[in-house]
Formats: sequence, C-alpha cells, structure tokens
Amino acid sequence: MTRVLIIGGGISGLRIGSLLSKEDIDFKILESRERVGGRVLTHNQDNNYFDLGPTWFWPDTEKTITNLINELNISTIEQYNEGYSLLELSKQEIPKYVESKELNNKSKRIVGGINTLVNVLKDSVPSSNIELNKKVISVIKNNDATFSVNTYDEIKREHISYHADILILTLPPRLLLESISFTPSLPKSIQIDLLNKPTWMGAQAKIVVTFDKAFWRDKNLSGNVVSWAGPLREIYDASTEYDESALFGFFSLPPAIRNQYDNESINKQVIEQLIRLFGPEAKSYNNIFYKDWSQDNHTVTEGDKLNIESFPSYGSPPEYLENVIFSGTEYNEEHGGHLEGALVSAEKAYFKVKKLISYV
Ligand SMILES: Cc1cc2nc3c(=O)[nH]c(=O)nc-3n(C[C@H](O)[C@H](O)[C@H](O)COP(=O)(O)OP(=O)(O)OC[C@H]3O[C@@H](n4cnc5c(N)ncnc54)[C@H](O)[C@@H]3O)c2cc1C
Repeated sequence: MTRVLIIGGGISGLRIGSLLSKEDIDFKILESRERVGGRVLTHNQDNNYFDLGPTWFWPDTEKTITNLINELNISTIEQYNEGYSLLELSKQEIPKYVESKELNNKSKRIVGGINTLVNVLKDSVPSSNIELNKKVISVIKNNDATFSVNTYDEIKREHISYHADILILTLPPRLLLESISFTPSLPKSIQIDLLNKPTWMGAQAKIVVTFDKAFWRDKNLSGNVVSWAGPLREIYDASTEYDESALFGFFSLPPAIRNQYDNESINKQVIEQLIRLFGPEAKSYNNIFYKDWSQDNHTVTEGDKLNIESFPSYGSPPEYLENVIFSGTEYNEEHGGHLEGALVSAEKAYFKVKKLISYV
C-alpha cells in the first residue's frame, strides 16, 4: 500500500512530493494531465520562454517562494518597468502617460519561465513516484480508515486503483467537488466551502505576442498598459534576455464573448490594440501564443467561467478527517491565488503528514 497519495501534480503537489522525497515516506503523485505543473505553463522556444500561466513572484511580500528560488539556485530577472505606462480610457482618446515606476510593484520573473521551478521540483521526485494521465474519479473511505482511489487513464482507456493511508487533495476546490465522487459523501459544510472558492484565474486567458525588437522601449514606454477599451485589459513587457522580445496581456473580454471568436479573430483584435497603443511596428510580430484557461477542464468548472467580481475568501476548509489534507493555492488564506499560496499550503501539508506518520 502507498502510504500517501497526492492527487494533482501542480506546484503544490510537486512541492509536497519534493519534501516527502527527502524522508523515508512512501508516496505517489497522481496527475490527470500528461504533464506536471498544472496552471504553470511556459512556452519554451530555443532560449526564449513565454509564460502562459503565472509570470511573477513578489520578493518583498512572498518569502516562501523567494527562499525556495534562492535555495534552488534559480536565476531571476526584474519585470521591465522603465519609462511610461499607458492608460487607455477609450479607443477614441489618446492614452494617458503615467511614470511606470509610480506603479512599480517590484515583481520578478524566473529565467526560463515559471516552468524552471516546476522542472527543478519534478527532478527532485523519483520519476516512479509520479503517475501521469491518472485522472482521479472516485475516492472510497474503507472501514479501516484507509482509502481506495480509482483513476481513469484517458490515453490507455483503463481504470487503475490505488490505496492509501493519507490523502492529499490539491485540485482547485470547485474542480475537486465536481470531478471526484466521494463515498461516503464529503460533509455538506466542506461541499459549501469548496463551492465558494472559485478557481483563481479560471475565467482568464493570456496572450503573448513576440517581436524581433522591444520597439516600445525605444519610445520610452515600459510596455505596461491598463485599458478600458480592450480586448486586453492589462499588458506587460514579456521580453526574455535572449533574442525575442514580447508583450503579454490579460483580457477584459469574458469567456462567453471570447468563445464567439476564433483564434484568428482574437489575434486580429489584439494586434489592432497593440498598433493603437505602441505604433505600426506592432504589425510586424513574429508569433502569437494564446491560452484560454476557461477552456481547460483540468483547471476549471462551468461556474469558474464567470469573472470573479471581488477577491474570493480563500483558506482551509472546515475540519474533516485528519488523514485527508487539502493543499493548493485556494486553501491558503494569506496568499491564496498566487504560487506563494500553493507553496505555503504545500509546506503545511508536509508537516501534517510527518506528524500523522510519527503517531502511527
Ligand atoms: C493566466 C494565469 C496567470 C497567473 N499569474 C500568476 C502570477 O503572475 N503569479 C502568481 O503567483 N500566480 C499566478 N497565477 C496563479 C498560479 O498559477 C497558481 O496559484 C498555482 O499555479 C496553483 O498551483 P496549485 O498546485 O495550487 O494548483 P494547480 O496548478 O491547478 O494544480 C492542480 C493539479 O491537479 C491536476 N488535476 C486536476 N484534476 C485532477 C484529477 N481528477 N486527478 C488528478 N489530478 C488532477 C491538474 O492537472 C493540476 O496539475 C496565475 C494563474 C493563471 C492561470
């Protein structure tokens, strides 16, 4: 029997795995996709890297990720923030100029993209402990307080069952509630709690447009934009220190509207906005990379396709069985939504496992 089963191989599940790998504790990570990393998704091309999931961490306020990155000797770069940011109030008005440094929130990026952190964590876990393409579909609590966990492999079209003493659930809360059946059912208080924790960024899409040169920098523009005109609501410089320069943006168009357009039409609207803001050089882009997270059924539920109106209340669910541990960004009160939240909750989960095992 595997003592600990970690369900989900995002940053939280991987961090727990990397910590347990240093102990004499038997564990497995069950991951539904054919890759680990979850919401971390970097498009790597030659030496260039473009993040289609998370991009930044904030060293001034996020100690856990900052210490981990230092400990793992991962190189970082400052988010480019020189010159002016643009504030676009409407398509008709000339954008307002604001000193970028005034808006500077001192974020950093990881060289190679956030996937560099995923790869280092993955490499610290024995490969035989990570099972890909294992979508967990049901959990049964046995009479002896252990668990039978049933998975479906969509590629091999086969069911495989695992058994465990301790379960760590790292799926986004709503997805957990909707996609895994529990016997007996999860208590109502837990179900309500999970339902009230929307998947962070679940309604978002991200687009990266690459160029030969960061031509906006020559115009003393940082690349930062806040726009009320759209289709992009926020834009930032995503250039790497290698040969390609880039801008990336988040959309103001909600998922239901984005779905009415094909990719070509989305790209066209984005390029028109970049020309409007930064000039005709934006016509000569090299590549466009687009990821719509609201279409990703390893991350979101139908309910997540509605934009979050106010910041959700994240944190631990009510008390449940002591051998069932919830870990992942939405279960962290202080940094819920960020990579920091996923890592803080992973460290807490690891200490809970150690405590449980030391009692047996
Ligand atoms: C567009 C975007 C931009 C972001 N920007 C930032 C940023 O700049 N900075 C920042 O700090 N954070 C940012 N975030 C948030 C950050 O990505 C998340 O906080 C973090 O990646 C969450 O990690 P996690 O392990 O908690 O969850 P996840 O990454 O969602 O991991 C859950 C894992 O469970 C797997 N899974 C799902 N269903 C099953 C199943 N049935 N069985 C087995 N496995 C399953 C999934 O495939 C996934 O690997 C952003 C997110 C997005 C989408």
